[in-house]
Amino acid sequence: MNEVKATHKCYKCGMCMFHCPVYSVYRNEVYSPKGKINAIDSIINTKRNNPDDLSGIFRECNLCHHCTKICPAEIDKTELVIKYRAQLNKTKPVGNYEAILSNIKKNGNPYSSNGGLHKNATKTQGIEKEKNRTLLFIGCTIRHKLPEIVDSVVSFLDKSGIDFTVLDDEPCCGNILNNLGFIQDARIIAKRNISILNKFDKIITLCPGCYNMLKSHNGSAGAKFEVNHILEIIHKARNQLESNLKEPVFFQVPCHIYNTDKKFEKIIPDVMSIFKQASTSLDVTNAPKCCGAGGGMPLYDKEYVMKRLDILLQNEPAQNIVTACPFCYLNFKKLESRQVSYITENLDITGDIKIDLRSTDESFQNFTQNKEEKVNLPMILVKYKASSKLKKIFNQ
Ligand code: SF4
Ligand code: SF4
Repeated sequence: MNEVKATHKCYKCGMCMFHCPVYSVYRNEVYSPKGKINAIDSIINTKRNNPDDLSGIFRECNLCHHCTKICPAEIDKTELVIKYRAQLNKTKPVGNYEAILSNIKKNGNPYSSNGGLHKNATKTQGIEKEKNRTLLFIGCTIRHKLPEIVDSVVSFLDKSGIDFTVLDDEPCCGNILNNLGFIQDARIIAKRNISILNKFDKIITLCPGCYNMLKSHNGSAGAKFEVNHILEIIHKARNQLESNLKEPVFFQVPCHIYNTDKKFEKIIPDVMSIFKQASTSLDVTNAPKCCGAGGGMPLYDKEYVMKRLDILLQNEPAQNIVTACPFCYLNFKKLESRQVSYITENLDITGDIKIDLRSTDESFQNFTQNKEEKVNLPMILVKYKASSKLKKIFNQ
């Protein structure tokens, strides 16, 4: 929906405001989703174009999709925010992104000036080179900020009987660039990634951002791989999994996957039932409450993020927080009073399991029937064998 249609369709009902994490902190309609629609309306009709005035409005957004999900007019505010961030980036970027842009362009990831921990890990003993058509796409945030998570993921996939590979030089998926409004740069990265990733049948991601970005390449962009988030794999194995956390758990549902792909409305409650005493960030409308980490907000409004965490957890007694999103993980880690973990760090497998990775997605099955012959995989692919050694490897 273009912005003119969106402003005409808006009923000004304000329902979106009361589900917006930014509004919950600032209590100012200007920064709410309704305020963003009003700003777009005035840009179109009064040619309002003061970048100082507008950049705050489009910067203050977690891109959590709550406002889209509950909107009776089905207006996608997230898409509009990214579009206006892109406009503002031409004159006054909504934040200081130079380091991120330069890192992605020079080093292939937003965080590091070198190849990163994962690249070092592939050179070490205990990792066997092998061809495989299922790729574990680790994602830049976990590779560079939370490598300790990888150990538990590899262990879980190994014990589940899944053969997989990882890429020695895994590319950035481009989601961060897209969310910050560098849409053209993200498209260039997507095009390059498709040629690398089309060598796989299936890609397992650990990050909702990677999931959405890689999934968006299917169809018109020419990608031929199926994308799964790790929650889908856990869901397949749920009857043979139990949590090693005996205390109550607060399950932080990742907005960027629950609100964008309906299948997770079924998958996530099933997965949560593994944690017997779990409470959840789902609210009365069954929408997840955002932790405040999305949309680049920790880059330019740290105070907002801390206030949002306070609001989210104000009546929550559980000390253990479990999530399946690296951005939520990093955000909750700021709280010294709570323990945060990635979901695979808390799972014990009871008995032997062999997860069937065949697609249950009909549209994907039809699509793959016409798929051309695969080319041989490059030798940069490796398969993790000795998962127990990974923590040691990453600490080197
Ligand atoms: S919920 Fe939708 S229709 Fe209502 S004010 Fe928000 S954008 Fe407009
Ligand atoms: S996407 Fe989330 S943070 Fe942004 S305006 Fe909508 S509800 Fe608020």
